[in-house]
Amino acid sequence: MPDLGSGGPLAASGLVTTLRPLAAGDHVQWVGWAGLGQAPHRLPARLTDVELDPVVARRYYDGYSNATLWPTYHDNVFEPRFEDLWWPAYVSANQEFARRTAAVAPRGATVCVNDYHLQLVPRILKDLRPDLRIVFFLHTAVPSRSIFNRLPTADEILRGIVGADVIGVQTNAGAEAMARLFYGSTAKDLDVYAAVSRIRAVPAQVDFTAISDEAQSGRTTALAHRVRDLLAPGRRIVLAIERIDPVKGVEQHLRAYRELIRDGSLDPRRTVLVQVGVPSRRQVPEYQALSDRVRQSVAEINAEAGIRTAILIDRAVAPATLIALYRAADVMAVTSLNDGMNLVAKEYVAARADGDGSLVLSRFAGAAEELGDALLVNPFSVSAIKAALLTGFDAPPAERRRRMSGLREALAGKSPRTWADRLLS
Ligand code: UDP
Repeated sequence: MPDLGSGGPLAASGLVTTLRPLAAGDHVQWVGWAGLGQAPHRLPARLTDVELDPVVARRYYDGYSNATLWPTYHDNVFEPRFEDLWWPAYVSANQEFARRTAAVAPRGATVCVNDYHLQLVPRILKDLRPDLRIVFFLHTAVPSRSIFNRLPTADEILRGIVGADVIGVQTNAGAEAMARLFYGSTAKDLDVYAAVSRIRAVPAQVDFTAISDEAQSGRTTALAHRVRDLLAPGRRIVLAIERIDPVKGVEQHLRAYRELIRDGSLDPRRTVLVQVGVPSRRQVPEYQALSDRVRQSVAEINAEAGIRTAILIDRAVAPATLIALYRAADVMAVTSLNDGMNLVAKEYVAARADGDGSLVLSRFAGAAEELGDALLVNPFSVSAIKAALLTGFDAPPAERRRRMSGLREALAGKSPRTWADRLLS
């Protein structure tokens, strides 16, 4: 595999993309957990490190957060696991975060609590430090009420979240779904109307201008040529970039691509699928199994085609190289089965300062709310993905430009900073 540069020390994820630029801000104090086996020097400056016992950490993070809450919040895209020992670990980790934050937050400070790992923190922190202004933001999708209510701890989670003065979610649909969770609760002590009145849809953003400028720089132009020469000399590129996660619908676009080659709609000598599949959560069995299936499926596509028409890059790629890939790609495929936002889709749009390129985007990614000019698909229909990929390649240039111009207009001027300003104001 050609060397495309590797990703930074922090995990490749939308949450990191959204929060990292804000880490440099004055008067910003981070409270975070380094993760098991991470060196503290790799974390942002001014970090208060929360220490978790390794056994608690596994139950809290790999267990309750990633094997119970994550699938539940994506409406059971895979089956959540319930283990009695995980919840107490989640409670104790949340208490630890809240205590550390209470100890370092200046009087009257605003505290932004991020994501599904920390839903009890707002309530605990509010009780410890009523002077603080607390904003909670859920970066994931919001589950439907019937699935959320299968959590034996559903009421405790809602009680935790409602300790925040503002409850932020990614989309308008997410805000409605969050309100339904409160209306559907059986907890008698919850002030449902107060809770619902605090919900705000504030979609996470990428730094549009920075990516757009970088995409037009000489450095990226050279890199984009190099990427094309290395991966796909003279061929058209379909690009997909995601963590290997069952919510991302990786197998959906692999299958669509395979069928397009099989039925002769795409010529494998003239087209290539570049799949960046970043390993993720390998401790959760579903992820390991998916990773094996993806590798297998790429191998089968190539064996069937008799030529290397699908390339799997199975590690994190550095942001500068990603921008070059976005620029080189004729079609970007985002076929998430369920996704809070999907910043990759937004990065592709930001990188297409040339006004060209086609975005195939799942209706079930939060980004679809702002990106209505994409080729929107239902990812559960492989034939819909196939049709959209072909349209992506073959639409007249004027049509492609019209769509891309609408997409860019929707994101122009937005950045993690504008997101944070809206959320905190
Ligand atoms: N990313 C990266 N290197 C990679 C793949 C992804 O830096 O090899 C970044 C990507 O640029 C994006 C983030 O990881 O900013 C993924 O965010 P997204 O919202 O698409 O998905 P998530 O992983 O948070 O579910």
